[in-house]
Amino acid sequence: MLTAGVIAVQGDVAEHAAAIRRAAERHGESVTVEEIRTAGVVPECDLLLMPGGESTTISRLLREEGIDEEIRAHAEAGKPMLVTCAGLIVASRDAKDDRVTTLDILDVSVDRNAFGRQKDSFEAALDVTGLEEPFPAVFIRAPAIDEVGDQIDVLATFDGRPVAVREDNVVGTAFHPELTDDSRIHGLAFFR
Ligand code: GLN
Repeated sequence: MLTAGVIAVQGDVAEHAAAIRRAAERHGESVTVEEIRTAGVVPECDLLLMPGGESTTISRLLREEGIDEEIRAHAEAGKPMLVTCAGLIVASRDAKDDRVTTLDILDVSVDRNAFGRQKDSFEAALDVTGLEEPFPAVFIRAPAIDEVGDQIDVLATFDGRPVAVREDNVVGTAFHPELTDDSRIHGLAFFR
């Protein structure tokens, strides 16, 4: 039995939990999902997910609760992790915004809210490395990834910009993979 943690200070916690359960079932794994709002739970988790929301708020709350260092330790231990949208911003090396203390567990820099106003929210069918059929990706005030380090595999691009990346055990997406019934991104990050 695997334990999956969903950082629950903000964001689509129930949707991510459901997607993790569906992905586990498809891969023949059994999983329990913990919602994480306080320190002490992350170290118990085999898998960890940091959802979207507002990166300034998430970063502040993680620090206040002392969860930030636990997340960093999870990533450094090589355990699987999925970070999405604002979660990607917080996990990045540099978000170019003083209000976001990044965790530096994915060697990318990001531009917050980079997909312009008329595109504040949109869906695109993305080709993703490791998935056979295109993935229905929902972007909501999404960040763009503008620089990637040598260790980064770009898994998908949109408009020529990386929007899904992997660095070993950590997968990051600029979009929200929990907003459709398709749990293949969760499968790719956690159960491949
Ligand atoms: N625009 C948000 C931020 O900068 C991210 C949006 C999201 O997670 N959907 O934090």
